[in-house]
Amino acid sequence: MKILFILLLAASTLSAKLNVAAAYPYIKELTKEIGQDKVAITLLSQGNWDPHFVVPKPSLIAHLRNSDLLILNGASLEAGWLSPLLDSANNPNIQENAKGYLELSDYMDLQDIPKNVNRSMGHVHAEGNPHFILDPHNVIKLAKVISLKLSLLDPANQGFYQKNFEAFKAAWEKKLVSFDKKMEACRGMNVIQYHELFNYFLRRYGINSVDNIEPLAGVSPNSKHTLELINTIKRKNIKLILQDVYHEHRTAHFIADKTGAKVVQLPHDVGAMKGTGTLEAFYTTLVNTVCR
Ligand SMILES: [Zn+2]
Repeated sequence: MKILFILLLAASTLSAKLNVAAAYPYIKELTKEIGQDKVAITLLSQGNWDPHFVVPKPSLIAHLRNSDLLILNGASLEAGWLSPLLDSANNPNIQENAKGYLELSDYMDLQDIPKNVNRSMGHVHAEGNPHFILDPHNVIKLAKVISLKLSLLDPANQGFYQKNFEAFKAAWEKKLVSFDKKMEACRGMNVIQYHELFNYFLRRYGINSVDNIEPLAGVSPNSKHTLELINTIKRKNIKLILQDVYHEHRTAHFIADKTGAKVVQLPHDVGAMKGTGTLEAFYTTLVNTVCR
């Protein structure tokens, strides 16, 4: 009887999945690639939501209470919404600095780091621009970090995670070649965007983000700035206005009407728009919409 119990215990330990909470859809997709059937993933937000202001479902608290690992974007992207959820879950395993806590921004080279921060700059991203997932070249590094963390928490499956990472890396490198090739034709293009969501993507491919519809990060458009934008677009012959899915679209279309520039809607994460449900589809949509 005792032996049977030990056998059952061993079997249940072997088959137990790591419970992972992912702040954003791209984190879920990457974790799925590496963890596959060894992980059970809870997603805290949706791809078409404003990532700065997620309104999490209360039912997520129970999931967070049982999570072995929490993976965040970091660089304060979750600063406006995650703390109350973590406080309610009260799970020491996934608190900041615990073994089961991973902030991806710690492993990224952040851009747009402000030289000095004050209120006149709007709701600025004080640690730098947190939207690094927009550069498809960051994906392999993020997958590597996630594979190392899964291995740390579940060393018995280290070889499995390593193998999945290597396979993912090889496949993604091929995709990068095709993204890079396609984007080459658009180098030097000038665009306007709503919020500085797409900077990492645009810089990767040598596209200039001339100005934003927001006068300051996180501040709604005003008529003075909108009129300035109309002049800038005419003067610099800007053809494209990049609109995200969650801000109002009226200002972009108003500017387009006055200038002849074209408004295109872009996804900022996996699942933000129809047909962007995988990492590959997400970046393919970005590439094909910006550089057609
Ligand atoms: Zn932002």
